[in-house]
Amino acid sequence: MAHCDEGYLCQVCGEEVKRIDQSLLYLRYVLGWISVEQLTKQPEAHLQCSPAIAQFIVDPEFKCPIDLESSLNKHELDAGFRTERENLITAGYQRLKYLQKHRRSLTITQYPIERNQ
Ligand SMILES: [Zn+2]
Repeated sequence: MAHCDEGYLCQVCGEEVKRIDQSLLYLRYVLGWISVEQLTKQPEAHLQCSPAIAQFIVDPEFKCPIDLESSLNKHELDAGFRTERENLITAGYQRLKYLQKHRRSLTITQYPIERNQ
């Protein structure tokens, strides 16, 4: 998706990742976890296929059957850390939904969330 509209294949299920708001790579990118160069080099996956991350998305539009081992399950985490994680990753997901609608008017370097830090 970085250089054309064709999606990459999900490393978990093998299906194409068709939309930016399904993309684990773009979620990591808008959160500033990976650089723009890494977008084309790192493995892609659907958010739905990445429950360790997707469990932190708290959004009625995002439905994902979460079935995680207890060591990875967010309910095993410290409540403060869990909330922090949910706020961050949900914000990233909402950014992806925004980009799904508006990305043609933005350049890729404008995709990441601006953080006040
Ligand atoms: Zn998948």
